[in-house]
Amino acid sequence: MNDWEQALSDTVDLVPPSGIRKFFDVAASMDDVITLGIGEPDFVTPWHIRESCVYGLEKGYTSYSTNKGMLPLRQEIANLYKKNYAIDYNPAEEIIVTVGVSEAVDLALRAILNPGDEVLIPEPCYVSYKACVILAGGKPVPVPTKIENEFRVTAADLEKFVTPATKALLIGYPNNPTGTILTEEELNGLAKFAEKYNLIVLSDEIYGDLTYGGLEHICFSTLPGMKDRTILFNGFSKAYAMTGWRLGYAMANPVFIEAMNKIHQYTMLCAPVTAQVAGIEALRNGEKNMHKMINEYDQRRHLIYEGFCRMGLKTFEPKGAFYIFPSIKETGMTSEEFVENLLEREHVAVIPGNAFGECGEGFIRCSYATSVDKIAGALNRIENFLKNI
Ligand code: PLP
Repeated sequence: MNDWEQALSDTVDLVPPSGIRKFFDVAASMDDVITLGIGEPDFVTPWHIRESCVYGLEKGYTSYSTNKGMLPLRQEIANLYKKNYAIDYNPAEEIIVTVGVSEAVDLALRAILNPGDEVLIPEPCYVSYKACVILAGGKPVPVPTKIENEFRVTAADLEKFVTPATKALLIGYPNNPTGTILTEEELNGLAKFAEKYNLIVLSDEIYGDLTYGGLEHICFSTLPGMKDRTILFNGFSKAYAMTGWRLGYAMANPVFIEAMNKIHQYTMLCAPVTAQVAGIEALRNGEKNMHKMINEYDQRRHLIYEGFCRMGLKTFEPKGAFYIFPSIKETGMTSEEFVENLLEREHVAVIPGNAFGECGEGFIRCSYATSVDKIAGALNRIENFLKNI
C-alpha cells in the first residue's frame, strides 16, 4: 500500500486545517442547534439579482468571459468606487474580477511573494490570510492586538515586527472576527508606516458596506499616496448576500493586475459568467436591498451586544461586519473548551477566538447574520450555560 500522506507537498503540511470547520461538523450531527457560527448572510440573494442571472442564461450567457471579467461589470465596479469614494480605477487595466475575494487574495499574494518574503498580518484576522501567505511561499508574521484597544492595530504595533524581509501588510477592516473598524487617523498611521518601509498593502474591504451608527467606511486606496501601493479587494458575498455565486474583484496598479491575471488565466480562466451577469445587476440596482439588509444587521447587532453586556461578558460594540467577539476568560475555560461545552450542553454553536490567531484565545466569535429570534434564543441559552458553570 502506498502511504499517500508521504506523497503530499511539504507546503500543504505547513497549513493547519481551518479551526472553524471542526465545530461545524460536530454541530451538523446534533439536533436543535442554534448557530452563531456561520460568517454568511442568512438572506437569500435579492430576487432581481437572481432573475438577471435567469435571463442571462435564457439569452445564452454560457461562455467564458475575458480573463479579467466582463468589461461592463468592471465598468460598474469603477463607477461604484467613483460614486462612493471619489476614486478612479481604469476598468480596462486596474480591475480584475475573481472567484470571490478568496481567489483575489490568493492571486495577489502569489503575484508578489518570493520565498521567505514576510507579510505582516494584524490578528485576530480572517482564517485564510495566514494559510494563503504560506501557500504562496511567504512567511506570515502575526501582529497581535488587544481587547483593551478594541483590537485596533497601530503603526507602533507593526514597528515591532517589521524586518528587512517584510514585503507587505495584509489588513481587513471592518474586521472579521472582531467587528472593529479603524478611524481615518489610525488608517493614516498605517499608510505612513507602509510608505516608510515601502510595503505593498493588501486591503480586504469585503465588509466595507457593512458599517453602523453613521460611521462611513474609508477605502484604504483613497488615503494620500496609497492608491499606487494598495491591492484592494471587495466582492459580492456579504453586502449582496451572494456567497454561493463566488464573485469578487481586486483593484490595483496595472502591474499588479497583469501579474494576477497571468495566474488567474492559467488556473481559473475567468469567474463564472452567470455570476458576473448577476453582479452587473447587483451593482446597478442592488443598493436599496443592500440597505434593508444592513438595517436588519444593525438591529441584530444591538440585540447581541446588549445581550452579552447583560450577561457580564467583557466585550465592545462592533462597528462593522456582522460579528461580535466577547471575552470568555472569566469562565476559566479556554476558547475551545467553552465552545465544546456550550455546544454539548446548550446546543449553541459559536467559533473559538483562537481560530483567528493566538491573541484570539479567551474569546469567542459570534455572527449576528441570523434572525432576531435565533439570536434571542442563543443568548438565553448562553446565559443559562454561564449560570450553570
Ligand atoms: N475576506 C473576509 C474578511 C471574509 O470574512 C470572507 C468570508 O468569510 C472572505 C474574504 C471570503 O469572501 P468570498 O466569498 O468573496 O471569497
